[in-house]
Amino acid sequence: MMEINYDAYETVVGLEVHAQLLTRTKLFCGDSAAFGGEPNTHVSPVTLGLPGALPRLNRTAVEYAIKMGLACKSTIERNNYFARKNYFYPDLPKGYQISQHTTPICIGGRVTIRTTAGERDIELNRIHLEEDAGKSSHDIDPDYTCVDLNRAGVPLIEIVTEPVISNGDEAYAYLTELRKMLRYLEICDGNMEEGSMRCDANVSVRLKGDTRLGTKVEVKNLNSIRNVRRAIEFESRRLIELLATGQSIQQQTRSFNAGDGTTFTLRSKEEANDYRYFADPDLPPFEVTDEFLARIGASLPPMPEELVQKYTRELQLSEYDARVIADEKESAGYFERLIGLTGAAGGAKSYKAAANWLLGPVRSSLNEKDLDWKDFPVPPESLAALIRLVEEGALSFSIAAERIFPVLLQEPARAPLEIATALNLLQSSDTGEIAAWVEQALAGMPDKVSEYKKGKKGLIGLFVGEVKKLSKGKADPKLTNKLLLEKLEN
Ligand code: ADP
Ligand code: MG
Repeated sequence: MMEINYDAYETVVGLEVHAQLLTRTKLFCGDSAAFGGEPNTHVSPVTLGLPGALPRLNRTAVEYAIKMGLACKSTIERNNYFARKNYFYPDLPKGYQISQHTTPICIGGRVTIRTTAGERDIELNRIHLEEDAGKSSHDIDPDYTCVDLNRAGVPLIEIVTEPVISNGDEAYAYLTELRKMLRYLEICDGNMEEGSMRCDANVSVRLKGDTRLGTKVEVKNLNSIRNVRRAIEFESRRLIELLATGQSIQQQTRSFNAGDGTTFTLRSKEEANDYRYFADPDLPPFEVTDEFLARIGASLPPMPEELVQKYTRELQLSEYDARVIADEKESAGYFERLIGLTGAAGGAKSYKAAANWLLGPVRSSLNEKDLDWKDFPVPPESLAALIRLVEEGALSFSIAAERIFPVLLQEPARAPLEIATALNLLQSSDTGEIAAWVEQALAGMPDKVSEYKKGKKGLIGLFVGEVKKLSKGKADPKLTNKLLLEKLEN
């Protein structure tokens, strides 16, 4: 068998992502756009394509598409129309899908990704609006295919990249970032398992140095971001092996088998489909006015990347901390409320303290119980109060995290100070009490004390630790130090 030099080739990938918009109603009628529901219950005459039923455009869907475009720094097309894409399929009762054809609502743009190879922009070709089709199920009835039209007419945006992604890792990073953006904008829930975000991967390979694109295959049925990466890695090797052994590549649509990580042929593209596109005569062209655009622009929340910049530059958090906090809108929102309460007085130190709490005890508690941020029970006010107790020296961090915080998780309405008092955990700054612990500690280690007096000053740590132990962590460390020194140096 001949040896294949995989390094002589490069992979080129373009991704098409369909994102279901979280509007209340469908793109062209008032039927519910909610996922699920009894089959065929969200089906008005417009959804069913009954003769004479007229579509009416959902403004919120347009707004959501523009939001994503602005977040990706696309150019927004002002003069839009919808076209009919004609084809026959049982889940498409009208016999055509209403889509944008030559004029996508968002043109160009980019998504910045980060991989182990560094940071780069993935250029977008377009983001356009279209309606979803219904759902065919082939496994409900042994003899028939069943169709549920609840999904037919649900608004989608299709986000299409240029052919610029070079491997599975980049595709993974791109989809992760894209999903994060959709969720931050609250326009799509990004759930690939339920199909509210779907991805097709177009893959080709070519000899390094070639400027012409190779023939592509399109892989469908990718129900997780991880599977997109697996499919690209598999397909890339397969295509390289075909080329390297002198075979030609057919333009094909393939399906991914998540069980063994391979792909198989669904259909070959003999020639381009003729969809006989034409402008839908039932829908008037629509214009995006300055006012509409300005209003949407003003409503955009800060995006994750902006927050990372703010946290690292203004708040001086580490890049790592900043990224973990900005990873989800809910955690960033919680952090913002928390630092609003703990105050800017402590500067970088108090921002760092808030970040430590989120990345430490808070995150562990969420992971342990497999909870989402929205289920986190402790209000930022209580956590802020707890952080303040640590900053004031009334509690050590470990007592706060290990003794008080777990109680707060169980009983979020209780005040941290009240819990600390009830459990007798407040740090003692009572000189008399600490002096007694100091006495006791030193009395227990006469040998060490004389070693110290002979010059082994490092032993101070041991004495402090002993006082801490005797006081069960309650002795104020600064005061402990001071009293120990007084005792030892005299
Ligand atoms: P189609 O009409 O088959 O859907 P498009 O030109 O609209 O093809 O491109 C669809 C997607 O495929 C885009 O993301 C594009 O970047 C990508 N693409 C196009 N040609 C190639 C290629 N030769 N290799 C990899 N990706 C490609
Ligand atoms: Mg395509």
